[in-house]
Amino acid sequence: MPTQNPVFIPGPTNIPDRLRKACDMATIDHRSPDFRAIFEPAIAGVKKVLGTRTGEIILFPATGTGGWEAAISNTLSPGETVLAARHGMFSHRWIDMCTRHGLDMQVIEAPWGAGVPVAAYAEALTADTGHRIKAVLVTHNETATGVRSDIAAVRRALDAAKHPALLLVDGVSSIGSMPFEMDAWGVDIAIAGSQKGFMLPAGLSILGISQKAIAAMEAAKLPRTFFDFRDMLASYKTGGYPYTPPVGLINGLATSVEMLMEEGLDNVYARHARIAEGVRRAVAAWGLKPCAQSPDLYSETVTAIVVPQGFNGTDIVTHAARTYQVAFGVGLGQVAGKVFRIGHLGMLTDVLMLSGIATAEMAMADLGLPVKLGSGVAAAQDFYRSNGGAARVAAE
Ligand SMILES: *Cc1c(COP(=O)(O)O)cnc(C)c1O
Repeated sequence: MPTQNPVFIPGPTNIPDRLRKACDMATIDHRSPDFRAIFEPAIAGVKKVLGTRTGEIILFPATGTGGWEAAISNTLSPGETVLAARHGMFSHRWIDMCTRHGLDMQVIEAPWGAGVPVAAYAEALTADTGHRIKAVLVTHNETATGVRSDIAAVRRALDAAKHPALLLVDGVSSIGSMPFEMDAWGVDIAIAGSQKGFMLPAGLSILGISQKAIAAMEAAKLPRTFFDFRDMLASYKTGGYPYTPPVGLINGLATSVEMLMEEGLDNVYARHARIAEGVRRAVAAWGLKPCAQSPDLYSETVTAIVVPQGFNGTDIVTHAARTYQVAFGVGLGQVAGKVFRIGHLGMLTDVLMLSGIATAEMAMADLGLPVKLGSGVAAAQDFYRSNGGAARVAAE
């Protein structure tokens, strides 16, 4: 393959050259001060991205899924009750994992395309006067449907019910791309992965853990060894690991957070919001709709687009890959075939995004969808010019 197009899947995301180089390292001794010099800035940077001063950061050689497992196994005991909502494939998978760990799941079913049902959470928490519920799970950004949920509202529901349950948040496809305020939202465990907003290869499970989660750790009876926070925190005191860390990836993470800080987190979030809005303008110009039920739920990192009756979203993805060597995301679970997804997070620019929009347009037109070539591109161009290019000229 002589060409290399960007991917438009919602993770893994495109890796900037600077990060590829940062990950490519000669072996060093991970028990030496050289490792500390890499590890400490990575941890300090992740704290800023997560919005925590009081929490601790733990990096496991794993992925987001490993982060889910670490979060539950370090804070809960078999048979304990956990409140969660199922409204997409990722929230579903975390619930499934909890069930397999022997937790007693109190699941609120919500439509795929809805956000986390805060009112139903509030009701369940208020009704639970005996505090049987030990943890509340929230998927901040449901990557399957392109839906962002309101974590602060879940925190308010917990506080209004004066409920002591832990708040465990999957931020795998939001952290580093959309505002995340671990301390302000009272998040007890925040979970991220290296291959989404951090623009790195997969391989690091990145967790923020609150002091309250650390306090819950001793009493938690679910078995864990590889993922035991206690071993990690003890080793961290000496600047090290209980086992061999992926040093190159951690060096990549130190560089990733440096890049995010150089751009400025607010600018990173504004860029994602602008690129996402361009995609949504394109979707509207195609006469199509996002799977997300209302604008307040729109994700700034991924848009799931509902395909018209009689067409299959997976065919669009397969065709784009085969014909144009461009990757989009397929629909998952309940929305398989009904949607296709455009990932718009990480290393992207307006210009790269236009190439993705143009490709989606070609693929849909090839398959006979009633989409006019250039319509989505023009809508996004208009938006990017007035919110980037032309606006910048006017400001100068
Ligand atoms: C990608 C993703 C995961 C799973 O992460 P892996 O790194 O693939 O294990 C979990 N939750 C959300 C919301 C995701 O987008």
